[in-house]
Amino acid sequence: MPEALMQDDVAANLAEVKARMAAAARDAGRTPEAVSLVAVSKTHTAERVRIALAAGQRVFGENRVQEAIAKFPALKDEHPDLRLHLIGPLQTNKSKEAVALFDAIESVDRPKLAASLAEQMAKAGRRPDCFIQVNTGAEPQKAGILPGEADAFIRDCRETYGLPLKGLMCIPPVEEAASIHFALLREIARRNGLSDLSMGMSGDFEEAIRFGATLVRVGSAIFGARPRPLA
Ligand SMILES: *Cc1c(COP(=O)(O)O)cnc(C)c1O
Repeated sequence: MPEALMQDDVAANLAEVKARMAAAARDAGRTPEAVSLVAVSKTHTAERVRIALAAGQRVFGENRVQEAIAKFPALKDEHPDLRLHLIGPLQTNKSKEAVALFDAIESVDRPKLAASLAEQMAKAGRRPDCFIQVNTGAEPQKAGILPGEADAFIRDCRETYGLPLKGLMCIPPVEEAASIHFALLREIARRNGLSDLSMGMSGDFEEAIRFGATLVRVGSAIFGARPRPLA
């Protein structure tokens, strides 16, 4: 579909996702304000992000540093209250750029990266919120710390690296019930005193909210199918 024909949908899709989030929160006995929406704009143009901004959305997620650098500095100039989350794997050699641009980094998953982020934060005087990505399904191809190593890594992020740690993030295996993974992430956060849980995407954000998500990362339900598939 040509982009012009899809544009009107973004505002309507956004309203629908927010309504579904609020209903899921109420069903779970939680207040709608307890869950924020990260609108995942990867592969979509800055123009489509502007439609979401015009509709009041302020938090966005991108999974590639270079793509975010191409799109978001201008958008941040236009909307100083825009907040950008990195939700994809981060290479250590890009941590300087990530610290400069992002307001939250949700994919902290190894000591070398934690050390590099700490160093770049000290240099830049800028401290984006950090989330540790947990590979709850222990999938070999997927990023994230293994569940059995999470407690020690969380402690190191706090004590050794002094990162501003806010919570945990996970991407459940596609072929399994997400609820088991949401429950595991919630339990790791609980025993480590972490308040934020980034979990739930277009297909399962309502279930994630039932399991305590404080951030849901929703892309295709807002912006439509992605122009090109992403790993
Ligand atoms: C792409 C992506 C999302 C959004 O996925 P949708 O199914 O389009 O909502 C959420 N989290 C991460 C880490 C992603 O890469």
